[in-house]
Amino acid sequence: RLFVDSELVPGPRRIDGPAAHYLIAVMRIAPGDPVKLCDDVTGEWLATATQVGKRDLTVDVSTRLRPREPVPDLWLCAAPLKKGRIDWLVEKACELGVDRLVPVVTQRTIVDRPKLDRLRSHIVEAAEQCARTALPVLAESTKLTALLRDWPAERALFFADESGGAPALAAMRERPGPAAILIGPEGGFTDEERSAIRAVPQAVAVSLGPRILRADTAATAAVSLWMAACGD
Ligand code: SAM
Repeated sequence: RLFVDSELVPGPRRIDGPAAHYLIAVMRIAPGDPVKLCDDVTGEWLATATQVGKRDLTVDVSTRLRPREPVPDLWLCAAPLKKGRIDWLVEKACELGVDRLVPVVTQRTIVDRPKLDRLRSHIVEAAEQCARTALPVLAESTKLTALLRDWPAERALFFADESGGAPALAAMRERPGPAAILIGPEGGFTDEERSAIRAVPQAVAVSLGPRILRADTAATAAVSLWMAACGD
């Protein structure tokens, strides 16, 4: 299963770039072989390889197998982490069904500008692996102050606070509907930031238990709990 970068329609289609490299060099695709293609617009299609070159191939797109899926309305707003940890987090968030990933720059954030291209490629790979037909949106990095200032009225903001809060699962069950989870950086939020977050009317401070989790663990735990409480 592979994502292509423009809308699929029945008929011949040329594939090049990394997707072609994967099919030709890794999967050793041959004329007549089937391949599933997704476009993040119409869904997942069956195609058959017709011509295979060294760097590109042509497939015949035939049947739509699945429409683009509806995605639970959950944003993950998390401070960017060091390379390996944010890569892991983005992959898990995609697998668990998050709709939008928002890198949030806080006072103690170490990595101000995560490499969005690298993260996007992890997202696509994770979606292909877990059979998502809809890619999560990766937003531009935003400062915490700007995020809170423009917080949408209809969206609950579950703020994971290791210093204490309502048990996460119960708090999420009480507030179905559009939601976001906010996770701090390796050094946590400052007291000033905690007060600013708690002042947002839609914010609910939640606890993920008595232990201080790594930021990537906290994010995957909180997303899993929200999916159990409110996801489809
Ligand atoms: N130093 C570790 C690291 O390198 O990842 C721990 C970082 S912890 C302070 C990062 C964030 O995870 C916090 O800002 C908070 O959002 C979340 N978090 C960690 N443990 C939590 C808990 N028990 N309950 C709620 N949130 C938690």
